[in-house]
Amino acid sequence: MERRKGVDVHGPEQALIELSLELVRSNEELERFAFAVAHDLRAPLRSIETMTQLFLERNAGTLNEESAQLLDFVVNSAERMDRLIQDLLEFATVSQQAETSEVDAKAIAELAAQNLQEAVDQSEAIIVIESMPVIRANERQLLRLFQNLIGNAIKYRGENTPEILIAASSTAGKTVFSVKDNGIGIDPQYHQQIFDPFRRLHTDSEYEGTGVGLAICKRVVQQHNGRIWVKSKLGEGSTFYFTIPDSEPTKSTLAGISQ
Ligand code: ADP
Repeated sequence: MERRKGVDVHGPEQALIELSLELVRSNEELERFAFAVAHDLRAPLRSIETMTQLFLERNAGTLNEESAQLLDFVVNSAERMDRLIQDLLEFATVSQQAETSEVDAKAIAELAAQNLQEAVDQSEAIIVIESMPVIRANERQLLRLFQNLIGNAIKYRGENTPEILIAASSTAGKTVFSVKDNGIGIDPQYHQQIFDPFRRLHTDSEYEGTGVGLAICKRVVQQHNGRIWVKSKLGEGSTFYFTIPDSEPTKSTLAGISQ
C-alpha cells in the first residue's frame, strides 16, 4: 500500500485519499476531453458558415426568396452552435485557470461593466457599484462572473431602463456579493434550475443566449468554495447573491496539494 510523504495512513483513510485522487484525475480527463471535442467541432462549423455565406453572396441575384431564407437559417444555426460550443468550452475550462491572488473586487466589477459598454449604452443602463473589499480570488473568473450577472441584468430588463446595484458585505469568514436589477424577474420555481447548463426560460427569438452563463457563474463560485443563489419574483426584478470565503484555497489548488 502506498504511503504519502511524512504521513502514515492506511485502511479506510488511505482508500478515501486514493478515491479522491482518482476523482481529480477523471475530472481532469473529462475537462481535456470536452476541450478537445469543442475545439475540433468549431472548425467544420466555421466552414459551413463561411461557405453558405459565400454561396448566398455569389448567387444573390438568382436565388428566390425562399431559398435565400433557408440558407440564412443555416448560417444563423451555425452561428448559434458556435456560440454554444464557445460557452461550453469556457464552462469546461473554468477550473483550469484557477490561480488566486489578492484582487480589488470593485475594480473587477467596474471592468466587467466597461466590457459591456455597448449594451450599457444601448439600454441606457444605470449601474451603481458600491464599495467592495479586496478578496482572494481568480481575477479572470471573477471578471467573467460579474460580466455574466451584469449582462443578464441588462438583457432581461423587459420594458424598464435597467437600474443595477452591485454591492458587497463582509460577514464572518466571507464576503457576500449581490447584483440587483429591476428587470423581468424569475418565477421562484426556476430559481435552482437556471444554474444548470443549457437551462433557459425563453426562446432565442425572445432573448438571445445559450443558457450556459449562469452555469459558468455557479462553477466559478464553487471553484472558490462559495455559494450562488437568486432572490426574485416575476415582474419584480432579481437579486443574484454569491459568497467568496476569506482566503480559501480554490478546488484546483487543493487538488494540486493532494497530488
Ligand atoms: P442565457 O442568458 O444565455 O439564457 P443564463 O445561464 O445566463 O443563460 O441564464 C439562464 C436563464 O435564467 C435565462 O434564460 C433567463 O431566463 C434567466 N435569467 C438569468 N438572469 C436573469 C435576470 N437577471 N433576470 C431575469 N431572468 C434571468
